[in-house]
Amino acid sequence: MSDKTSSSATDGERVSPSPEFRKQATVKSMAEYKRLYAESVTNPEKFWNAQAKELLQWRKPWKKTLEWKEPQAKWFVGGKLNVCENCVDRHLGTPRENKAALIFEGEPGDQQTLTYKQLHVEVCKFANVLESLGVKKGDRIAIYMPMTCEAVVAMLASARIGAVHTVIFGGFSSESIKDRVNDCQAKIVVTADGGWRRGSVVPLKQNVNKAVTGCPTVTNVVVVKRIGNRVSMKPGRDVWYHTLMHDASHKHTAKAFDAESPLFILYTSGSTGKPKGVLHTSGGYLMHTTITSKYVFDLKESDTYWCTADIGWITGHSYVTYGILSNGATNVIYEGAPNFPDVDRFWDIVERHRVTIFYTAPTAIRAFMKWGDKHIKKHDLSSLRLLGSVGEPINPEAWKWYHKTIGGGRCPIVDTWWQTETGGIMITTLPGAAYSKPGSAGLPFFGVVPKVFDDDGNEVRKGKNGKLVLTSPWPGMLRGLYGDKKRYKETYWSEYKGVYFCGDGCKQDKDGYFWIVGRIDDVLNVSGHRIGTAEVESALVGHSGVAEAAVVGRPDELKGSAVVCFVTLKEGVRQSDAVRTELRNHVGEVIGAVAKPDEIRFAQALPKTRSGKIMRRLLKDIAAGKEIHQDTTTLEDIKVVKQLQEQG
Ligand code: ATP
Ligand code: MG
Repeated sequence: MSDKTSSSATDGERVSPSPEFRKQATVKSMAEYKRLYAESVTNPEKFWNAQAKELLQWRKPWKKTLEWKEPQAKWFVGGKLNVCENCVDRHLGTPRENKAALIFEGEPGDQQTLTYKQLHVEVCKFANVLESLGVKKGDRIAIYMPMTCEAVVAMLASARIGAVHTVIFGGFSSESIKDRVNDCQAKIVVTADGGWRRGSVVPLKQNVNKAVTGCPTVTNVVVVKRIGNRVSMKPGRDVWYHTLMHDASHKHTAKAFDAESPLFILYTSGSTGKPKGVLHTSGGYLMHTTITSKYVFDLKESDTYWCTADIGWITGHSYVTYGILSNGATNVIYEGAPNFPDVDRFWDIVERHRVTIFYTAPTAIRAFMKWGDKHIKKHDLSSLRLLGSVGEPINPEAWKWYHKTIGGGRCPIVDTWWQTETGGIMITTLPGAAYSKPGSAGLPFFGVVPKVFDDDGNEVRKGKNGKLVLTSPWPGMLRGLYGDKKRYKETYWSEYKGVYFCGDGCKQDKDGYFWIVGRIDDVLNVSGHRIGTAEVESALVGHSGVAEAAVVGRPDELKGSAVVCFVTLKEGVRQSDAVRTELRNHVGEVIGAVAKPDEIRFAQALPKTRSGKIMRRLLKDIAAGKEIHQDTTTLEDIKVVKQLQEQG
């Protein structure tokens, strides 16, 4: 965005929650949000001290709320708790115990419901199983599973015994499993004989077999029977989950662990480079995910909540497993693809289970738009009361479509900005308190102090692009990159002194709303103007013929950076020079002449990570006509890259 036009264009439209939503919301007004926020940042220790007492169950109180020595934070120092107990046991003996904790739906249509009481039995048994396999506090367990109840049970059982899980997304290859298992030296791999995806079997066990021959630390592979197909089991190493569970006791006493004891390691998506092994600990992380679930999703016990993220991503950790169960809500999990057997599968699930809160990613929303409204109109979505978005900036066009077509115009949308590293939601609007601006994530959550800096570490003026930083520690923050202190410091703490740099470009408008404009490496410098890739993409997607767009820079002697756009068109729209010209002019009109694309390339599909994020770093090389030597292990479909290279 050119500096001249930026502030007017970013003021954005305002969409307020309905009076009915407001009335029942946990935070009902902007004044209330402002008061709580002010409390949380003027005296963070007092604020978190009170919240941790109210929202979590502790075995031993902490001595110090925060110990901060940059770049290392310790929260609730000296306190002890059991994370699993907070998510499961504490609901027992309350009216919640007999309500559904998990409602699982498999891709073929099979279903399973576990009440909190039943979940407790499963988790206790699996905790006993893990201990019988010699797993001790601090040992690492890799979980490579389809989205089933057993996957959640495995995470919780690991937490229960103080082990450290690393969930590896079920779409990853043997090579990716091997890298991750070896990086964290996992002792056990929990997997399944397979999982269903778009009607086919994902050969999970086969991938594990191939991987673990190169993983000397793995002593056992535990295999859930999901498909019932034949898989090769190595005697002495491989054991069936159901056999072990059959013999396991359902009694398990949970020990208390230090607030700072490691809970999990999770590798980032790899949008910007080699994945980083992000380490999270127990008390602070559970605090952050519990409080954000409660306030951001306005989550109540009575809600049936569905987040479509796989547990292989941070969203699946924080907002499928931990934050949601610790609040005692009902959680829907779905194994398969959104378009199996048909493109209305998600809406069918929402209708049948009467889902009240739905949380998904912009990439999915854009796919639904492309597939057409008629598939949605077939279903009764009146149970929905709140929608969420995460993973990438959501362009206003998609936001408005989501609001109208899925939310029936009555559901607030929370656009949640956060990262694997932050553990939980950082910037968003509290749904009953604040109006939304389509395309802006919104305002800081309690205790979060974001700022927009220039290269020299000064705050930029409102409306100007800069780098998004976080200037004070928060409970859910990462405690490091596993086994790599140097990379931790370099990646997050070396851009500015004493300040966490998140890698995203951003601006704040005069209402205080934050707008993520893309990864900082992707912000373009065009003839001296800083232009965010997300802004140009959003303009392109705002054109009726465009399904998706990715924008990158190509070094240009005259302009510094030329604007290159990769565009996929909606079904029925033909690629032509006329469309190209129209799109160029359209961007010129929406943003300003300076942002007019120098080149528009049509593509069948865009290269994405397995979590659905566009990998602009690859497109940059393609635009510049370079060979690709980067890490592509988290890419969804390598063929897409080959196609684009051939077209170039
Ligand atoms: P890597 O760090 O390995 O490159 P990644 O950054 O894609 O991977 P994640 O931690 O899954 O891995 O993603 C966090 C990033 O996703 C944020 O830094 C931001 O760029 C983007 N993001 C997430 N939510 C939003 C949102 N609501 N609006 C804008 N961007 C978002
Ligand atoms: Mg990142």
